[in-house]
Amino acid sequence: MMNRFKLFLLVLSATTGIALAQDPVEQDNKLGEQGDQMVQEQMGIYHHTITQNYIEQLGQKIAMQAGEDIPFKFSFQLVNMIEPNAFSLPGGYIYVSRGILPILNSEDELATILGHEIAHVVRRHSARQMNKSIVPTILTIPGLLIGGLISQELGNIINAPINAVGQVYLASYSRGQENEADEIGVLLAAKAGYKPKSLGKALGQLDKVVELYTGEESKSSIFDDHPYTPERVKNIQELTEKIHPKPSNPIAKTTSEFNHYMYGLHLQDDPEQGVFDGQKFVHPALKFKITFPEKWKTTNTPTAVGAVSEKQDATVVLGVLAEGEKHVEAGKNFLEKSSKAKGVNIISSGEITFQGLKAFEVKFTQGEKNPSKGHLIWFTYKDLTFQISGIWKGTNREIVDGSINTFGGVSNEELKDLKVLTLSLKKAKKGETLDDFSKRTGNVWKNEFLIVMNDLQDQKTLKEGQELKIAIWSPINY
Ligand SMILES: [Zn+2]
Repeated sequence: MMNRFKLFLLVLSATTGIALAQDPVEQDNKLGEQGDQMVQEQMGIYHHTITQNYIEQLGQKIAMQAGEDIPFKFSFQLVNMIEPNAFSLPGGYIYVSRGILPILNSEDELATILGHEIAHVVRRHSARQMNKSIVPTILTIPGLLIGGLISQELGNIINAPINAVGQVYLASYSRGQENEADEIGVLLAAKAGYKPKSLGKALGQLDKVVELYTGEESKSSIFDDHPYTPERVKNIQELTEKIHPKPSNPIAKTTSEFNHYMYGLHLQDDPEQGVFDGQKFVHPALKFKITFPEKWKTTNTPTAVGAVSEKQDATVVLGVLAEGEKHVEAGKNFLEKSSKAKGVNIISSGEITFQGLKAFEVKFTQGEKNPSKGHLIWFTYKDLTFQISGIWKGTNREIVDGSINTFGGVSNEELKDLKVLTLSLKKAKKGETLDDFSKRTGNVWKNEFLIVMNDLQDQKTLKEGQELKIAIWSPINY
């Protein structure tokens, strides 16, 4: 579930053709605009109006403190990413993941995180980063899944129609830039009336959650690949002792008010992007389902859903193609491009019927000794062109094809049974233990999660009326 705690700073590839000599502000704005489109299409925006408006309002309040002469127009968006994260792009594009919000417990904490990201923009950190040499990492999931099985060249041909948006490259800030963003960020938050110390608190909180998920101490960063170390928290503490926030009017005056802005956030799958029920994936909006083999590790992105075998010697990926291309066209495109790729041997190709749908199929191998094998199918369903790619080595054919053949439509009946994990709020009864509270409210977080998420520390029994964030299974609204 929460397997990637890598946080992303998105830096555009140097090949995007931006003239670096132009006006620096214009350059930042252009970079940001292009990056923002990639974030929207590859990560996706999470639609939750109350939370989105709150983040925008709070963000603008803090950004204002940077002064009127800042030449950037700030925007604050909620991205559909389950990992706890916050990151920024040049020109004022700031993003908060839906996964970071349930972890925080006050407006002060969120304010300092936003302040930190605003500081990166104001100091133009990411733009500077562009001039260094960066080893690019491809974010897109199908690329990662296909990884070692076939050549990169062939992998790109298979993925290209799915990743029509282009690739997003990742990089980290330097330690110096992080410290600078901490310093400026907490000052901005303090000027807006927030406790600067809350940044240390938020970082500690994030670290505890990551530890719970991964079962190990996190040595690396939490948000936007930031170096997270006890030294950093110590630095923040020293830094903030001298800063006294000027009193002002918070948007959410209490933890309870803050939590109410987060009410209803999806804690695992977002139904808009599809829901896993074990190995079965259901997309309520596009009305299809597919089941991945037992024990395979599954992943979902806005453009593709897929799984990889335990030994990483087989994958199945289902993607939606960019608009305009029809299934026969897509298949023939693949044949043409792959004929130029090294070591690709087409076994068969042609039009078929797949699950009652008109489709185009290609079977291929790549490599001499122990070749990789591939089974690709393009088909049109609900006016969209889909691509299923099964790629494997050895004896995985039956498993791969078995999974491919589970593709089908879903009925409204099936959708009614679907449940998603959702953030809710419930008040405790006097002296209630955590176990009793969870039993009564339907909370499915284990005690250690309930404690960390609500920052209960060593509190063993609950006070009357004490309100806690909980995780409950709720039906999807389709
Ligand atoms: Zn940072």
